[in-house]
Amino acid sequence: MKQVGIIGGGIIGLCSAYYLRQAGYAVTVFDRNPLTDGCSFGNAGMIVPSHIIPLAQPGMVAKGMRMLMKSTSPFYIKPRLSTDLLRWGWLFYRHSTPEHVERSIPALRDISLLSRRLYQELAQTGGLSFGWKEDGLLILYKTASAEHEMAGEAEVANRSGIEARVLSGPQVQALEPDARVEVRGAVYYPGDAHLIPDQLIRSLTAVLKAQGVTLLEGREVTGFGVQGGRITSVRAGADDLPVDALVVAAGAWSPLLMRLLGTSLPLQGGKGYSFMVREPKPQIRVPAILLEARATATPMGPDLRFAGTLEVAGTDLTVNLNRVRGIVNSIRNYYPDMTVSLPDVKQVWSGLRPCSPDGLPYIGTSGRYENLVLATGHGMMGVSLGPATGRLVTDLIDERPPSMDVGPFDPGRFS
Ligand SMILES: Cc1cc2nc3c(=O)[nH]c(=O)nc-3n(C[C@H](O)[C@H](O)[C@H](O)COP(=O)(O)OP(=O)(O)OC[C@H]3O[C@@H](n4cnc5c(N)ncnc54)[C@H](O)[C@@H]3O)c2cc1C
Repeated sequence: MKQVGIIGGGIIGLCSAYYLRQAGYAVTVFDRNPLTDGCSFGNAGMIVPSHIIPLAQPGMVAKGMRMLMKSTSPFYIKPRLSTDLLRWGWLFYRHSTPEHVERSIPALRDISLLSRRLYQELAQTGGLSFGWKEDGLLILYKTASAEHEMAGEAEVANRSGIEARVLSGPQVQALEPDARVEVRGAVYYPGDAHLIPDQLIRSLTAVLKAQGVTLLEGREVTGFGVQGGRITSVRAGADDLPVDALVVAAGAWSPLLMRLLGTSLPLQGGKGYSFMVREPKPQIRVPAILLEARATATPMGPDLRFAGTLEVAGTDLTVNLNRVRGIVNSIRNYYPDMTVSLPDVKQVWSGLRPCSPDGLPYIGTSGRYENLVLATGHGMMGVSLGPATGRLVTDLIDERPPSMDVGPFDPGRFS
Protein backbone atom coordinates (compact mmCIF):
# COMPACT_ATOMS: atom_id res chain seq x y z
CA MET A 1 0.00 0.00 0.00
CA LYS A 2 1.37 3.46 -0.85
CA GLN A 3 2.35 5.55 2.16
CA VAL A 4 1.29 9.22 2.42
CA GLY A 5 2.64 11.51 5.14
CA ILE A 6 0.57 14.55 6.15
CA ILE A 7 2.14 17.38 8.15
CA GLY A 8 -0.56 19.09 10.20
CA GLY A 9 -3.54 17.63 12.03
CA GLY A 10 -5.90 20.60 11.62
CA ILE A 11 -9.09 20.41 9.59
CA ILE A 12 -7.17 20.39 6.29
CA GLY A 13 -4.77 17.60 7.27
CA LEU A 14 -7.53 15.48 8.82
CA CYS A 15 -9.92 15.84 5.85
CA SER A 16 -7.05 14.96 3.52
CA ALA A 17 -6.35 11.87 5.66
CA TYR A 18 -10.04 10.90 5.48
CA TYR A 19 -10.31 10.91 1.69
CA LEU A 20 -6.81 9.46 1.13
CA ARG A 21 -7.66 6.55 3.41
CA GLN A 22 -10.92 6.03 1.53
CA ALA A 23 -8.87 5.89 -1.70
CA GLY A 24 -6.78 3.06 -0.21
CA TYR A 25 -3.61 4.84 0.98
CA ALA A 26 -1.73 4.14 4.20
CA VAL A 27 -1.76 7.52 5.94
CA THR A 28 0.33 9.00 8.77
CA VAL A 29 -0.53 12.44 10.18
CA PHE A 30 2.18 14.33 12.10
CA ASP A 31 1.33 17.16 14.45
CA ARG A 32 3.71 18.76 16.89
CA ASN A 33 0.81 19.51 19.25
CA PRO A 34 -2.20 17.61 20.54
CA LEU A 35 -4.88 17.68 17.83
CA THR A 36 -7.21 19.48 20.23
CA ASP A 37 -4.97 22.53 20.25
CA GLY A 38 -4.94 24.06 16.76
CA CYS A 39 -6.72 26.73 14.78
CA SER A 40 -9.31 24.20 13.67
CA PHE A 41 -10.59 23.69 17.21
CA GLY A 42 -11.93 26.95 18.64
CA ASN A 43 -13.08 28.83 15.54
CA ALA A 44 -16.57 30.12 14.72
CA GLY A 45 -17.66 26.96 12.86
CA MET A 46 -19.39 28.78 10.00
CA ILE A 47 -19.67 27.05 6.63
CA VAL A 48 -19.82 29.96 4.27
CA PRO A 49 -20.60 29.54 0.56
CA SER A 50 -21.66 33.20 0.99
CA HIS A 51 -17.98 34.20 1.17
CA ILE A 52 -17.25 34.33 -2.54
CA ILE A 53 -15.47 37.69 -2.41
CA PRO A 54 -11.82 37.25 -1.35
CA LEU A 55 -10.33 39.29 1.50
CA ALA A 56 -8.06 41.02 -1.04
CA GLN A 57 -10.69 43.35 -2.53
CA PRO A 58 -10.96 47.04 -3.48
CA GLY A 59 -11.17 49.30 -0.42
CA MET A 60 -9.79 46.69 1.99
CA VAL A 61 -6.36 48.31 2.34
CA ALA A 62 -7.92 51.71 3.20
CA LYS A 63 -10.37 50.09 5.66
CA GLY A 64 -7.52 48.21 7.32
CA MET A 65 -5.41 51.36 7.63
CA ARG A 66 -8.28 53.20 9.38
CA MET A 67 -8.62 50.41 11.94
CA LEU A 68 -4.92 50.06 12.68
CA MET A 69 -4.78 52.90 15.18
CA LYS A 70 -7.33 51.66 17.77
CA SER A 71 -6.31 49.20 20.49
CA THR A 72 -9.77 47.58 20.55
CA SER A 73 -10.02 47.47 16.76
CA PRO A 74 -10.67 44.13 15.06
CA PHE A 75 -7.78 44.50 12.62
CA TYR A 76 -4.11 44.98 13.40
CA ILE A 77 -0.72 44.44 11.81
CA LYS A 78 2.11 44.05 14.31
CA PRO A 79 4.92 46.27 13.00
CA ARG A 80 7.90 44.05 12.14
CA LEU A 81 10.93 44.46 9.96
CA SER A 82 10.27 41.35 7.96
CA THR A 83 10.79 40.90 4.24
CA ASP A 84 8.13 38.13 4.26
CA LEU A 85 5.57 40.52 5.74
CA LEU A 86 6.51 43.29 3.29
CA ARG A 87 6.19 40.93 0.32
CA TRP A 88 2.86 39.61 1.63
CA GLY A 89 1.55 43.17 2.09
CA TRP A 90 2.66 44.16 -1.39
CA LEU A 91 0.97 41.11 -2.95
CA PHE A 92 -2.21 41.78 -0.93
CA TYR A 93 -2.27 45.37 -2.18
CA ARG A 94 -1.68 44.30 -5.79
CA HIS A 95 -4.57 41.82 -5.65
CA SER A 96 -7.09 44.20 -4.08
CA THR A 97 -8.64 44.92 -7.49
CA PRO A 98 -12.07 44.40 -9.13
CA GLU A 99 -10.44 42.10 -11.72
CA HIS A 100 -9.03 39.81 -9.01
CA VAL A 101 -12.42 39.69 -7.27
CA GLU A 102 -14.17 38.84 -10.55
CA ARG A 103 -11.67 36.05 -11.30
CA SER A 104 -11.85 34.59 -7.78
CA ILE A 105 -15.64 34.39 -7.39
CA PRO A 106 -16.28 31.25 -9.48
CA ALA A 107 -13.34 29.40 -7.86
CA LEU A 108 -14.43 30.27 -4.29
CA ARG A 109 -18.07 29.49 -5.08
CA ASP A 110 -17.30 26.10 -6.61
CA ILE A 111 -14.96 24.93 -3.84
CA SER A 112 -17.41 26.14 -1.16
CA LEU A 113 -20.37 24.36 -2.74
CA LEU A 114 -18.33 21.17 -3.20
CA SER A 115 -17.33 21.34 0.47
CA ARG A 116 -20.88 21.92 1.71
CA ARG A 117 -22.06 18.89 -0.30
CA LEU A 118 -19.29 16.77 1.22
CA TYR A 119 -20.20 17.97 4.74
CA GLN A 120 -23.80 16.91 4.07
CA GLU A 121 -22.51 13.47 3.06
CA LEU A 122 -20.23 13.27 6.13
CA ALA A 123 -23.10 14.26 8.44
CA GLN A 124 -25.43 11.63 6.94
CA THR A 125 -23.20 8.68 6.15
CA GLY A 126 -19.66 9.40 7.34
CA GLY A 127 -20.17 8.05 10.88
CA LEU A 128 -19.32 11.53 12.19
CA SER A 129 -21.18 13.71 14.65
CA PHE A 130 -20.44 17.43 14.63
CA GLY A 131 -23.64 19.42 15.24
CA TRP A 132 -24.28 20.12 11.54
CA LYS A 133 -27.07 22.69 11.01
CA GLU A 134 -28.30 24.37 7.86
CA ASP A 135 -29.77 27.56 9.35
CA GLY A 136 -28.06 30.08 7.07
CA LEU A 137 -26.06 33.15 8.05
CA LEU A 138 -27.07 36.72 8.90
CA ILE A 139 -24.74 39.60 8.14
CA LEU A 140 -26.06 42.21 10.58
CA TYR A 141 -25.37 45.90 10.03
CA LYS A 142 -26.27 49.13 11.75
CA THR A 143 -25.26 51.85 9.30
CA ALA A 144 -26.46 53.09 5.93
CA SER A 145 -23.00 52.74 4.40
CA ALA A 146 -22.76 49.09 5.49
CA GLU A 147 -26.26 48.51 4.10
CA HIS A 148 -25.18 49.93 0.76
CA GLU A 149 -22.02 47.82 0.67
CA MET A 150 -23.80 44.61 1.74
CA ALA A 151 -26.66 45.10 -0.72
CA GLY A 152 -23.98 45.30 -3.44
CA GLU A 153 -22.41 42.05 -2.21
CA ALA A 154 -25.85 40.40 -2.10
CA GLU A 155 -26.41 41.37 -5.72
CA VAL A 156 -23.04 39.86 -6.71
CA ALA A 157 -23.91 36.67 -4.79
CA ASN A 158 -27.33 36.29 -6.43
CA ARG A 159 -25.78 36.88 -9.85
CA SER A 160 -23.19 34.17 -9.08
CA GLY A 161 -25.78 31.58 -8.02
CA ILE A 162 -25.57 32.04 -4.22
CA GLU A 163 -28.93 33.06 -2.77
CA ALA A 164 -28.87 36.26 -0.70
CA ARG A 165 -31.86 38.16 0.76
CA VAL A 166 -31.65 41.76 1.97
CA LEU A 167 -33.79 42.01 5.13
CA SER A 168 -35.18 44.98 7.06
CA GLY A 169 -34.78 45.23 10.85
CA PRO A 170 -38.25 43.70 11.52
CA GLN A 171 -37.56 40.87 9.07
CA VAL A 172 -34.32 40.09 10.94
CA GLN A 173 -36.25 40.10 14.21
CA ALA A 174 -38.71 37.57 12.79
CA LEU A 175 -35.80 35.13 12.34
CA GLU A 176 -34.75 35.68 15.97
CA PRO A 177 -37.95 35.34 18.05
CA ASP A 178 -36.06 34.76 21.33
CA ALA A 179 -33.48 37.57 21.28
CA ARG A 180 -33.99 41.27 20.59
CA VAL A 181 -31.85 42.41 17.63
CA GLU A 182 -31.11 46.10 17.13
CA VAL A 183 -29.95 46.60 13.55
CA ARG A 184 -30.73 48.60 10.46
CA GLY A 185 -31.00 45.34 8.51
CA ALA A 186 -29.10 42.28 7.37
CA VAL A 187 -28.28 40.14 4.41
CA TYR A 188 -29.46 36.58 4.95
CA TYR A 189 -27.63 33.77 3.17
CA PRO A 190 -29.93 30.73 3.55
CA GLY A 191 -27.40 28.33 1.99
CA ASP A 192 -24.79 28.77 4.73
CA ALA A 193 -24.46 26.28 7.57
CA HIS A 194 -22.61 25.81 10.84
CA LEU A 195 -21.09 23.10 12.99
CA ILE A 196 -19.28 22.62 16.29
CA PRO A 197 -15.57 22.59 15.36
CA ASP A 198 -14.23 20.82 18.46
CA GLN A 199 -16.81 18.03 17.99
CA LEU A 200 -15.82 17.79 14.32
CA ILE A 201 -12.10 17.38 15.10
CA ARG A 202 -12.76 14.83 17.88
CA SER A 203 -15.17 12.87 15.70
CA LEU A 204 -12.88 12.90 12.65
CA THR A 205 -9.96 11.81 14.80
CA ALA A 206 -11.94 8.85 16.18
CA VAL A 207 -13.12 7.75 12.72
CA LEU A 208 -9.60 8.06 11.26
CA LYS A 209 -8.12 5.96 14.07
CA ALA A 210 -10.82 3.32 13.54
CA GLN A 211 -9.96 3.26 9.83
CA GLY A 212 -6.29 2.62 10.54
CA VAL A 213 -4.82 6.09 9.98
CA THR A 214 -1.76 6.70 12.17
CA LEU A 215 -2.05 9.98 14.10
CA LEU A 216 1.26 11.05 15.65
CA GLU A 217 0.63 13.87 18.13
CA GLY A 218 3.49 15.77 19.74
CA ARG A 219 5.72 14.97 16.76
CA GLU A 220 7.27 18.01 15.07
CA VAL A 221 8.54 17.51 11.54
CA THR A 222 12.02 19.00 11.26
CA GLY A 223 13.42 17.65 8.01
CA PHE A 224 13.02 15.56 4.90
CA GLY A 225 14.87 12.95 2.90
CA VAL A 226 15.07 13.97 -0.75
CA GLN A 227 16.20 12.06 -3.83
CA GLY A 228 16.18 13.81 -7.18
CA GLY A 229 12.77 15.46 -7.59
CA ARG A 230 11.06 13.38 -4.88
CA ILE A 231 10.63 13.54 -1.13
CA THR A 232 11.45 10.08 0.18
CA SER A 233 11.07 10.45 3.95
CA VAL A 234 9.85 12.69 6.75
CA ARG A 235 11.94 13.31 9.87
CA ALA A 236 10.09 13.71 13.16
CA GLY A 237 12.20 13.44 16.31
CA ALA A 238 14.65 10.59 15.90
CA ASP A 239 12.51 8.77 13.30
CA ASP A 240 12.50 8.90 9.52
CA LEU A 241 9.23 7.71 7.98
CA PRO A 242 9.53 6.65 4.32
CA VAL A 243 6.80 8.24 2.16
CA ASP A 244 5.56 7.84 -1.40
CA ALA A 245 3.81 11.22 -1.23
CA LEU A 246 3.71 14.14 1.21
CA VAL A 247 1.00 16.69 2.05
CA VAL A 248 2.01 19.94 3.77
CA ALA A 249 -1.10 21.15 5.65
CA ALA A 250 0.67 22.94 8.47
CA GLY A 251 -1.51 26.05 8.57
CA ALA A 252 0.29 29.29 9.49
CA TRP A 253 3.55 27.36 9.94
CA SER A 254 3.59 26.01 6.36
CA PRO A 255 6.12 28.63 5.11
CA LEU A 256 8.67 27.34 7.65
CA LEU A 257 8.36 23.81 6.28
CA MET A 258 8.42 25.00 2.68
CA ARG A 259 11.59 26.94 3.47
CA LEU A 260 13.21 23.67 4.60
CA LEU A 261 12.29 22.40 1.13
CA GLY A 262 13.86 25.44 -0.53
CA THR A 263 10.60 27.19 -1.53
CA SER A 264 9.24 30.53 -0.39
CA LEU A 265 5.49 30.59 0.35
CA PRO A 266 3.80 33.97 0.93
CA LEU A 267 1.54 33.36 3.92
CA GLN A 268 0.90 35.18 7.21
CA GLY A 269 -0.86 34.05 10.37
CA GLY A 270 -4.02 36.10 11.04
CA LYS A 271 -4.62 35.80 14.76
CA GLY A 272 -8.19 35.68 16.02
CA TYR A 273 -9.91 35.02 19.34
CA SER A 274 -13.03 33.24 20.50
CA PHE A 275 -14.80 32.55 23.75
CA MET A 276 -17.88 30.61 24.75
CA VAL A 277 -20.90 31.88 26.64
CA ARG A 278 -22.62 28.94 28.34
CA GLU A 279 -26.41 28.77 27.98
CA PRO A 280 -26.95 32.49 27.33
CA LYS A 281 -30.33 34.05 27.99
CA PRO A 282 -31.47 35.06 25.46
CA GLN A 283 -30.01 32.67 22.90
CA ILE A 284 -29.95 33.36 19.16
CA ARG A 285 -31.02 30.88 16.45
CA VAL A 286 -29.08 32.01 13.38
CA PRO A 287 -25.28 32.45 13.21
CA ALA A 288 -24.38 36.07 12.58
CA ILE A 289 -21.56 38.35 11.55
CA LEU A 290 -21.76 41.66 13.45
CA LEU A 291 -20.44 43.60 10.52
CA GLU A 292 -19.16 46.91 11.89
CA ALA A 293 -17.60 45.07 14.87
CA ARG A 294 -16.03 42.41 12.61
CA ALA A 295 -17.17 39.84 15.18
CA THR A 296 -19.22 36.66 14.87
CA ALA A 297 -21.82 34.87 16.99
CA THR A 298 -22.48 31.15 16.45
CA PRO A 299 -25.00 29.12 18.46
CA MET A 300 -23.40 25.77 19.35
CA GLY A 301 -26.02 23.58 21.01
CA PRO A 302 -27.24 25.47 24.09
CA ASP A 303 -24.10 27.66 24.10
CA LEU A 304 -22.98 30.64 22.04
CA ARG A 305 -19.49 31.28 20.67
CA PHE A 306 -18.26 34.79 19.91
CA ALA A 307 -15.18 35.24 17.74
CA GLY A 308 -13.33 37.97 15.94
CA THR A 309 -10.25 40.13 15.25
CA LEU A 310 -7.59 39.62 12.63
CA GLU A 311 -4.10 40.50 13.79
CA VAL A 312 -1.35 39.87 11.29
CA ALA A 313 1.18 38.97 13.97
CA GLY A 314 3.43 36.20 12.61
CA THR A 315 2.96 33.02 14.61
CA ASP A 316 2.44 34.71 17.98
CA LEU A 317 -0.58 33.27 19.80
CA THR A 318 -0.69 35.44 22.93
CA VAL A 319 -4.06 36.90 23.86
CA ASN A 320 -4.50 40.68 23.82
CA LEU A 321 -7.47 41.25 26.14
CA ASN A 322 -8.03 44.75 24.75
CA ARG A 323 -9.13 43.27 21.45
CA VAL A 324 -11.32 40.71 23.20
CA ARG A 325 -12.87 43.68 25.04
CA GLY A 326 -13.61 45.16 21.61
CA ILE A 327 -15.67 42.05 20.75
CA VAL A 328 -17.44 42.02 24.14
CA ASN A 329 -18.32 45.73 23.93
CA SER A 330 -19.86 45.31 20.51
CA ILE A 331 -22.32 42.55 21.47
CA ARG A 332 -24.92 44.77 23.14
CA ASN A 333 -24.97 47.07 20.11
CA TYR A 334 -26.55 44.21 18.17
CA TYR A 335 -28.24 42.11 20.89
CA PRO A 336 -29.18 44.70 23.56
CA ASP A 337 -30.63 42.17 26.01
CA MET A 338 -27.52 40.01 26.06
CA THR A 339 -25.20 40.59 29.01
CA VAL A 340 -21.72 39.25 28.35
CA SER A 341 -18.78 40.10 30.59
CA LEU A 342 -15.11 40.15 29.61
CA PRO A 343 -13.87 36.56 29.95
CA ASP A 344 -10.79 35.68 31.93
CA VAL A 345 -7.73 35.41 29.69
CA LYS A 346 -7.67 31.63 30.34
CA GLN A 347 -11.15 31.29 28.84
CA VAL A 348 -10.10 32.98 25.59
CA TRP A 349 -8.99 30.78 22.72
CA SER A 350 -6.61 32.13 20.08
CA GLY A 351 -5.84 30.68 16.67
CA LEU A 352 -3.90 31.61 13.54
CA ARG A 353 -5.72 31.73 10.22
CA PRO A 354 -3.28 30.81 7.44
CA CYS A 355 -3.76 33.85 5.16
CA SER A 356 -2.53 33.91 1.57
CA PRO A 357 -2.10 37.42 0.14
CA ASP A 358 -4.81 37.05 -2.53
CA GLY A 359 -7.42 35.37 -0.32
CA LEU A 360 -7.37 32.07 -2.24
CA PRO A 361 -6.05 28.83 -0.75
CA TYR A 362 -2.96 27.02 -1.95
CA ILE A 363 -3.99 23.57 -3.19
CA GLY A 364 -1.75 21.82 -5.67
CA THR A 365 1.50 20.10 -6.40
CA SER A 366 4.76 21.91 -5.83
CA GLY A 367 6.73 22.53 -9.02
CA ARG A 368 9.92 21.43 -7.29
CA TYR A 369 8.93 17.99 -5.95
CA GLU A 370 6.62 15.79 -7.98
CA ASN A 371 5.20 13.96 -4.94
CA LEU A 372 4.54 17.02 -2.75
CA VAL A 373 1.04 18.50 -2.42
CA LEU A 374 0.46 21.75 -0.59
CA ALA A 375 -2.89 22.38 1.13
CA THR A 376 -3.02 25.59 3.14
CA GLY A 377 -3.75 29.32 2.98
CA HIS A 378 -7.51 28.99 3.60
CA GLY A 379 -7.53 32.10 5.80
CA MET A 380 -10.97 32.70 7.29
CA MET A 381 -12.51 29.69 5.51
CA GLY A 382 -10.45 26.64 6.46
CA VAL A 383 -13.30 24.82 8.16
CA SER A 384 -15.68 25.62 5.33
CA LEU A 385 -13.27 24.34 2.71
CA GLY A 386 -11.82 21.36 4.62
CA PRO A 387 -13.67 18.45 2.97
CA ALA A 388 -13.32 19.86 -0.57
CA THR A 389 -9.61 20.42 0.01
CA GLY A 390 -9.23 16.85 1.32
CA ARG A 391 -10.98 15.54 -1.77
CA LEU A 392 -8.81 17.66 -4.12
CA VAL A 393 -5.60 16.60 -2.35
CA THR A 394 -6.67 12.98 -2.87
CA ASP A 395 -7.47 13.60 -6.55
CA LEU A 396 -3.97 15.06 -7.03
CA ILE A 397 -2.12 12.26 -5.24
CA ASP A 398 -4.24 9.57 -6.89
CA GLU A 399 -3.68 11.27 -10.28
CA ARG A 400 -7.40 11.14 -11.10
CA PRO A 401 -9.42 13.92 -12.79
CA PRO A 402 -9.86 16.65 -10.14
CA SER A 403 -13.35 17.22 -8.66
CA MET A 404 -13.00 20.85 -9.86
CA ASP A 405 -10.42 23.08 -11.57
CA VAL A 406 -7.56 23.66 -9.10
CA GLY A 407 -5.75 26.12 -11.40
CA PRO A 408 -6.72 29.23 -9.36
CA PHE A 409 -5.26 27.61 -6.21
CA ASP A 410 -1.83 26.86 -7.76
CA PRO A 411 0.79 27.20 -4.97
CA GLY A 412 3.31 28.50 -7.51
CA ARG A 413 1.17 31.46 -8.63
CA PHE A 414 3.42 34.11 -7.03
CA SER A 415 6.77 32.68 -8.09
C1 LIG B 1 -11.22 33.37 15.50
C2 LIG B 1 -11.31 32.49 14.28
C3 LIG B 1 -12.57 32.19 13.76
C4 LIG B 1 -12.66 31.40 12.61
N1 LIG B 1 -13.90 31.06 12.12
C5 LIG B 1 -14.02 30.30 11.01
C6 LIG B 1 -15.30 29.94 10.51
O1 LIG B 1 -16.31 30.29 11.08
N2 LIG B 1 -15.36 29.19 9.38
C7 LIG B 1 -14.23 28.77 8.73
O2 LIG B 1 -14.34 28.12 7.69
N3 LIG B 1 -12.99 29.08 9.20
C8 LIG B 1 -12.86 29.84 10.31
N4 LIG B 1 -11.62 30.18 10.79
C9 LIG B 1 -10.44 29.78 10.03
C10 LIG B 1 -10.09 28.33 10.28
O3 LIG B 1 -10.09 28.06 11.65
C11 LIG B 1 -8.71 28.04 9.66
O4 LIG B 1 -8.70 28.43 8.30
C12 LIG B 1 -8.40 26.56 9.73
O5 LIG B 1 -8.53 26.08 11.04
C13 LIG B 1 -7.01 26.26 9.20
O6 LIG B 1 -6.84 24.87 9.24
P1 LIG B 1 -5.46 24.19 8.90
O7 LIG B 1 -5.68 22.74 9.01
O8 LIG B 1 -4.96 24.75 7.60
O9 LIG B 1 -4.45 24.74 9.99
P2 LIG B 1 -4.35 24.43 11.56
O10 LIG B 1 -5.67 24.09 12.14
O11 LIG B 1 -3.59 25.55 12.15
O12 LIG B 1 -3.48 23.10 11.58
C14 LIG B 1 -2.12 23.10 11.22
C15 LIG B 1 -1.42 22.14 12.14
O13 LIG B 1 -0.06 21.96 11.70
C16 LIG B 1 0.72 21.69 12.83
N5 LIG B 1 2.13 21.94 12.51
C17 LIG B 1 2.71 23.08 12.13
N6 LIG B 1 4.03 22.92 11.91
C18 LIG B 1 4.30 21.61 12.15
C19 LIG B 1 5.49 20.82 12.09
N7 LIG B 1 6.66 21.33 11.73
N8 LIG B 1 5.40 19.50 12.41
C20 LIG B 1 4.21 18.95 12.77
N9 LIG B 1 3.06 19.67 12.84
C21 LIG B 1 3.10 20.98 12.53
C22 LIG B 1 0.17 22.66 13.88
O14 LIG B 1 0.49 22.21 15.18
C23 LIG B 1 -1.32 22.63 13.58
O15 LIG B 1 -2.03 21.74 14.42
C24 LIG B 1 -11.48 30.94 11.96
C25 LIG B 1 -10.24 31.22 12.51
C26 LIG B 1 -10.14 31.99 13.66
C27 LIG B 1 -8.78 32.28 14.23
